[in-house]
Amino acid sequence: MANPSLLILAGDGIGPEVMAEVKKIIGWMGAKRSVTFDVTEDLVGGCAYDKHGVPLHDDTMAKAQEVDAVLLGAVGGPQYDNLDFSVKPERGLLRLRKEMDLFSNLRPAQCFDALADFSSLKKDVVAGLDIVIVRELTSGVYFGEPRGIFVEGNERVGINTQRYTESEIARVARSAFELARKRANKVCSMEKANVMESGILWREVVQEIHDKEYPDVALSHMYADNGAMQLVRWPKQFDVIVTDNLFGDVLSDCAAMLTGSLGMLPSASLGAPMANGRPKALYEPVHGSAPDIAGTGKANPIACILSFAMALRYSFDMGEDAARIEKAVEKVLADGLRTADLMGPDGGTPITTTQMGDAIIAALDASL
Ligand code: NAD
Repeated sequence: MANPSLLILAGDGIGPEVMAEVKKIIGWMGAKRSVTFDVTEDLVGGCAYDKHGVPLHDDTMAKAQEVDAVLLGAVGGPQYDNLDFSVKPERGLLRLRKEMDLFSNLRPAQCFDALADFSSLKKDVVAGLDIVIVRELTSGVYFGEPRGIFVEGNERVGINTQRYTESEIARVARSAFELARKRANKVCSMEKANVMESGILWREVVQEIHDKEYPDVALSHMYADNGAMQLVRWPKQFDVIVTDNLFGDVLSDCAAMLTGSLGMLPSASLGAPMANGRPKALYEPVHGSAPDIAGTGKANPIACILSFAMALRYSFDMGEDAARIEKAVEKVLADGLRTADLMGPDGGTPITTTQMGDAIIAALDASL
């Protein structure tokens, strides 16, 4: 059987720094777990613009369509701020998401016990938290027509349209149910069916898909405003939350911050299954290119490393190795090792990006 294939797009700023630590783990997987990935590397974002005059070359796009999974670091930087909108670094990432049709965005909020004090919520509310928000990513109010700013009478009116087809709702619902089956088997669907017709349809379709295809998964429905409140009140009541693009944007940021630092948050964006049964997939940390700390060794590589763990779980069915990496991260944090972003008010000496990667490798070795 062919080796699993990965396209690595480290990008700009701290992207290459955090990705270097992921590459160590890929090397470790080959040496210690006999899992060899066929890795190709290429450019995205500002570095692609510098070389090709576009933030994503067509050849890179073609490679992304062929591999089993894409791993992305981060894009952007102040030196690109004045570029034309069409060639800004972020357009490279948007093109990947659009052309790969990555409609299901998975944002886990997982709180490692050692960092529970970091949350703005009480420790017992967040310690051990492990939930995933599945956000519909390619439709809804950010894309619906008509849209624009128009003149009506003697004033301007801003219009965006929330629009969802049944099939768009069905496919993201399936993605959430599939995910729940690999976890605690519970899905909560959030919308505003009390005031929005698109919300009524959302609720009906999610329920139909559940009844026909996933009756074994526990399904509940919640209005999204109540969902926001419940996320802060008692987040551990949830396992998988599925919601639309707009509510998902807000709720996933809210849930993510329950756990502390931006440097800890991974994400996955999944599309339809390819011929080999694996979903089209892009894995990336939630954070950006952090130009303020690029080149200083301060970047926390954990978000990128946990994104790779998600790739193992969701693209390659290597849940055991994904859990091994997550446990290794938990171990180094429990041992008190911290990059600068994780330093509490009591101070202490932070370790560098490379030292954090090495410590995780040592914990992986110890796990064998
Ligand atoms: P950012 O996420 O890059 O940084 C926000 C803050 O968090 C900064 O203080 C940064 O130092 C810190 N931070 C981020 N990641 C960290 C890590 N791994 N370890 C330690 N600290 C970390 O967001 P920003 O400053 O708003 O944007 C900077 C650039 O990144 C911009 O060009 C923006 O467009 C781009 N951006 C890219 C993505 C992406 O590639 N997906 C996402 C967001 C922003």
